[in-house]
Formats: sequence, structure tokens, C-alpha cells
Amino acid sequence: MRELPTLARYPFLADTRQYIKDHGPAITDLLHDLLYERARLTSIERLDNALSDSDVGERSLATDADCIMEILSYPLARMVTVCISDPYFQRRYALGEAYHTYKYLLTEPTSFLSAVAKELGLSVHYTPETRLRLFFKDYLRYAPTTYKEWKMVNREVAGGYIALSHKDLARVVQETLRARINTELSGRPCDEDVNRIFMEDIRRLQTILQQRQRRQDAVPVGKLHPEHLPPCMTDLLAATQAGENVPHMGRFALVAFLNSLKLSPTDILKLFSTAPDFEEEKSRYQIDHITGATSSTSYKCPGCDKMRTYGICPTEKMDGLCRRTRHPLNYYSAKWRQEKKQ
Ligand code: SF4
Repeated sequence: MRELPTLARYPFLADTRQYIKDHGPAITDLLHDLLYERARLTSIERLDNALSDSDVGERSLATDADCIMEILSYPLARMVTVCISDPYFQRRYALGEAYHTYKYLLTEPTSFLSAVAKELGLSVHYTPETRLRLFFKDYLRYAPTTYKEWKMVNREVAGGYIALSHKDLARVVQETLRARINTELSGRPCDEDVNRIFMEDIRRLQTILQQRQRRQDAVPVGKLHPEHLPPCMTDLLAATQAGENVPHMGRFALVAFLNSLKLSPTDILKLFSTAPDFEEEKSRYQIDHITGATSSTSYKCPGCDKMRTYGICPTEKMDGLCRRTRHPLNYYSAKWRQEKKQ
């Protein structure tokens, strides 16, 4: 079993779960007992920080009590996130936890980083004598390959493994953890007791989210009608706006799709600007290139078959219209026609 400060820094590890199982309070005590009020307050702090800074924030871990409250605040924060019941918020929270972990991992020995990566299911090879290496399938799945320096062609590959620096592997772990938290929280039911105890903070955060949404809705964005978007574009847009790692092909398809709806490059840029890690110059360059503003070619959005091949058609979300259409743009126009008829 690892030491308490380590468990507090990495509350998603199996050791931390085991610690809670062996030494933690019963869930009713955690929710009601005055003894755990600090853990409850810290859980809300995690959420507030995730929403405002994309980082759940750092607290003192100087004493055992500090560490225990930090450890217990993690499952509480997750339970409250489920009750807030907002996909955007859930993504921000997952990003906040993952980014915080990334920052800690940068300061750890590589052997520890490698052990955490393995626990998250990544196929990593590391010995003090050799370089860190990650199996290419894990790399393609989690590395932010949208960026030039992460593209496979710019990496050293041998025997199916990609050589990585400590910092790079920490970044891949961040992405893996973000995806894992998102998956774990999706579709979970809200616990009634949690909802009651945290009612005030849940309502407060929901109000902030609604206000943000209204502000966003008020931004004029050319001819885009979000309610007509097919599931693939809804997902890609939501992930881009939440600052998630959208694969290159996903970003390409989204920009080409929006361009076909006659949104100007500036309007597309405006849509992307809500991302916490938004970099105007980089995004503008990509958008201008795809839309043909700075190149001789204006690229077209791929059809549904290609979208599936690239793994950016969320097949589990396909609806009746998806099954009758072969291109995301046709889906969008069909939605228009359906609405007109009604
Ligand atoms: S079937 Fe086509 S339109 Fe529907 S989600 Fe998949 S790619 Fe998008």
C-alpha cells in the first residue's frame, strides 16, 4: 500500500479505493457526520475549481487528516457531479481531475509515472536503462495527435512502440484518465441522499451552467442550428468546446461540416473559443486551411461510411435518421425538412 499523501494525490488508484474500503467511513457517515464536513466542502471546492480553472486545485497534504479529507472528497465530488447531470460540466470535471493529476505526475519519478500508466491500462515499457515506450494503439487512442509534434510521423517507432519523454507520457495519462472518468460517470444515477445534502451547491452550479449556456446561445454564429446537428457533429462540437482532445479527423470533419453550412471561418473560430485550452492562432490556422481561406482547396466533410472508419461516428447514438442517411450534411438538411413539415 502506498503512503497517504500519494493516495491523496492520486485518488483514482486501486490502492486509494482499497484504503477507503478498509479505513473509510460508511457512506451515510460520509454524507451526514460532522466529522466529514471538511471532505464535503473540499468536494465542492474540487468542482468549483474544475469549472473555473479546469483544475480541481491543490490543498495542503501536510497531516494525515489533510490527506484523509482529500481522499474522501474525491468520491463525493464524483457523486455530486452525477447529480448536477450536465454533460458539459461532467467533461469539465473529468478534465479538472485529469489535468491536476498531470501536474503532479510531472514531478514524480518516471518509474512511478510508468506504474500509474500501467494501472490505467496503458501498455508501457520502462526500465531505468531504456527509454519510455508506449504501444502504438494506446498512443493513437490517447495522444493529442491534433498537434504537429504528436503526429506519428514525427515520432520514433520501433517494434510497435513509440518512444516518449516523461512529460509526454504524463500528458497521455491525463487524456486516459479524463476519458476513464467520463466513462465511469456517464449514465450513473444520482443518489437521492447526495442530491439532498448538496442541493444548494448543485442548484448553484446548475444556475452558473445555464447562464453560460444562455450567453453562448446569444452569440451569433451564422447559419448553425444546433438542434439539427447529427449525433457525430453534436459530440465533436461539445468535445471541442470542452477542450477535450478531439482527433485530427474529428476536428477536420467538424470544420468542413460547418464550412458547408456557410459559417465563416470567424464564426467557426468563435464556436471553438469556449474551449479552456483554446489557442486562437493555432485554431485559426487549422480552420483557414480546411475552409480554403489560406489554401487553394476547400475540403469536404466525409460521409458516414468514412466517419465510421475513422471512429468518429458515435454508432451507439445513431438514430432513425442516421440509418436513412449517408452523409452528416444530408442528416442536417433532412432535419430542416422535417421541421418545416411540422
Ligand atoms: S450515421 Fe452519419 S450522420 Fe449519423 S452520427 Fe454517424 S456519421 Fe453522423
